[in-house]
Amino acid sequence: MIIKHFKYSIEGIVQGVGFRPFVYTMALKYSLKGFVLNDSTGVKISIEGKIEDIENFEKYLNANLPPLARIDKLKKVLSPLENFNSFSIIKSIRSSSKYSLVSPDFAMCNDCLSEMRDKTNRRYNYFFTNCTNCGPRYSIIKTVPYDRPNTSMQAFIMCEECQKEYDNPCDRRYHAQPISCEKCGPTLSLKDMAGNLIATNIDAIKGLANFIKDGYIVAMKGMGGFHLICDASNSETIKNLRDKKNRPSKPFAVMMKSIQDIESTCKLSPSEKSRVISNERPIVLLKTKKNNLSPLIAPFIDRLGVFLAYTPLHVKLFDFLENHIIATSANRAGEPIVTNEDDLRLKLNGIIDYYLDYNREIVNSSDDSVLQVIGTKDLLMRSSRGITPTNIRVKSNEKRKILAVGAHQKNAIAIYMNNQVILSPYIGDLDNIATVEAFHKTLKTFKEFYDFEPDLIVCDKHPLYESTKWAKSQNIPIVQVQHHYAHILSCMFEHEIDEKVLGIAWDGTGYGDDGSIWGGEFFVCDRSEYERVAYFEPFLLLGGDASIKDIRRIALSMILDCEEDKIYNDFLAEFKTSELNLLKQMHKKELNSPKCSAVGRLFDMVAVIARVCDKVSYDGESGLILESLYDEGIEDSYDIYLDGHIVRYKHVIKEMIKDKEARIIASKFINSLVNIVCNISEKYSLKTLLSGGVFQNRTLLENILKRKDNIIFQNKLPINDGSIAIGQLTNILSHTN
Ligand SMILES: [Zn+2]
Ligand SMILES: [Zn+2]
Repeated sequence: MIIKHFKYSIEGIVQGVGFRPFVYTMALKYSLKGFVLNDSTGVKISIEGKIEDIENFEKYLNANLPPLARIDKLKKVLSPLENFNSFSIIKSIRSSSKYSLVSPDFAMCNDCLSEMRDKTNRRYNYFFTNCTNCGPRYSIIKTVPYDRPNTSMQAFIMCEECQKEYDNPCDRRYHAQPISCEKCGPTLSLKDMAGNLIATNIDAIKGLANFIKDGYIVAMKGMGGFHLICDASNSETIKNLRDKKNRPSKPFAVMMKSIQDIESTCKLSPSEKSRVISNERPIVLLKTKKNNLSPLIAPFIDRLGVFLAYTPLHVKLFDFLENHIIATSANRAGEPIVTNEDDLRLKLNGIIDYYLDYNREIVNSSDDSVLQVIGTKDLLMRSSRGITPTNIRVKSNEKRKILAVGAHQKNAIAIYMNNQVILSPYIGDLDNIATVEAFHKTLKTFKEFYDFEPDLIVCDKHPLYESTKWAKSQNIPIVQVQHHYAHILSCMFEHEIDEKVLGIAWDGTGYGDDGSIWGGEFFVCDRSEYERVAYFEPFLLLGGDASIKDIRRIALSMILDCEEDKIYNDFLAEFKTSELNLLKQMHKKELNSPKCSAVGRLFDMVAVIARVCDKVSYDGESGLILESLYDEGIEDSYDIYLDGHIVRYKHVIKEMIKDKEARIIASKFINSLVNIVCNISEKYSLKTLLSGGVFQNRTLLENILKRKDNIIFQNKLPINDGSIAIGQLTNILSHTN
């Protein structure tokens, strides 16, 4: 009988995810001796036993990891025998470097759900049930290491039974930091907006459900913040919510009770289904079927953002409800999600009538993540709960600690240290004080969690971005990376591409190297440099930001560029004479009208010409409307073509006006964008990468992939500005590889 001793060092997501008890149970199963412990880099294991048992142990380890665990690196060394007499879990070693990884929050697992449904279980109906494989993490952690005293569960003393589970390595709740039960955990309270207590615990949930049924707008504290909630089949309430929130048409997400409910409302592919039920439980944008939901949920479009209940509290709420509910982040327009009762009462006074609160603090906020599925691949639109913070190992000789502060819209930050890149959850658009504060708070949190002080900061080139201004004020060396180049870099990062590529970055805005607004870019680039090989012909954004909302100005500007405005008389008649004269002057003299080549704005122009939208109230609205009009039967396109380095399109407006029918205009326009991507891609014998918010347009992307299935886009990182920070880091890391 040959006995051996191996030492393993494992890096990855191996702490706070039940990894040590998993190893312990396996060691007992295969009669192995030794120990397992957490240290500052991950997990160390010493295993002594029969060689065949060790082999089985390894096989099992690789095939049956705990659901939230991930091994990035495993090192194995043969060591002298130590004749251990048992297998044990050794208490964490507190090293001076407090570097460890922080996981996002996860949806309730099936084991916990079964317990919650089991009348004989002590957690029957318990609304904060969780275990090592599920529940809150990021939202409750104050500082690392991730131990109960460092979380907002610190205030709750475990009862005897919970403590037993917590201490037992064979229990599913071994070292599950948020462990609790009805005896010892947080309590729920239902209140009116004056703060008067109406009911507690299960009665509070029942009471909230009754208010929803009665047509009230309520709020409920979820995992990473409060949701505004109302009955999704009550059009009157939804209209009321839209009026009060001054949100005329931006779609609301709908939370449904079961996957069957989702299937009966939306078209659901197997890949989409697997995303909907995953332990990340994102909002998944699905194509709707004929249904009897209120048309006010997502006006004018054929998509619906749906998700399933993801905490035991949501599950319990649905026990008292028949209908789906609208569940949207509770915030003032554009501001971060509200996480505590004081802010809720301050900021949503006059909008909600009642709220359900609990007495466990949300330390770090997170929003619901949002994605679409393209074929079998994810197209991530908002990366937050369940997904970020996320860490990615990289090969680099870079020794400096680097902070990337991202863009302005959909801001998220990223840090690099010790061969790890860590992306923060979605922070938001840095347009208001509250979001800028959230940006500062995330910076502070990240510095604390990862014991991080940057040696270098990377930011966007836009001088007016809050993130850029902050970076410049830090007295730390900075590097600025062009916005659209950063888009392509983030795509290269995700797909581990090092070579020269054709990168196509289309979005709504971004500061170009010539000071104009870019966003219809074709680059030949690698990780350290780029050449702008083609771009959409610029137009003047009349009145700057005024054009972004009043999108008629965009169409007008392009028409005036054609210098044949007489043919467009019908269109011009839509403006008041005085307004038209003013805009013509602005155009002629290029007054307060920056040059812009963003494809996102072309969608606005087309929506105006097709007469389906002339004011937008949320980002991407015109694109979603045009998508919903797209007719697969129409194969025609407009003659948008490459002329030298410039993509010409203004001349087709005349034909669009003639085409009249919105369905035809939308379809031909999207087809012509598909053509230009494929045609330019074919000119280069390089990999083609797509990035930027415009490619959130599923119809556009799917049609491109139908023609060229080897085109690469982002799947694990947001395709929009949410990945700019990662792109910024990629540029710096390329110089030290
Ligand atoms: Zn669980
Ligand atoms: Zn307890």
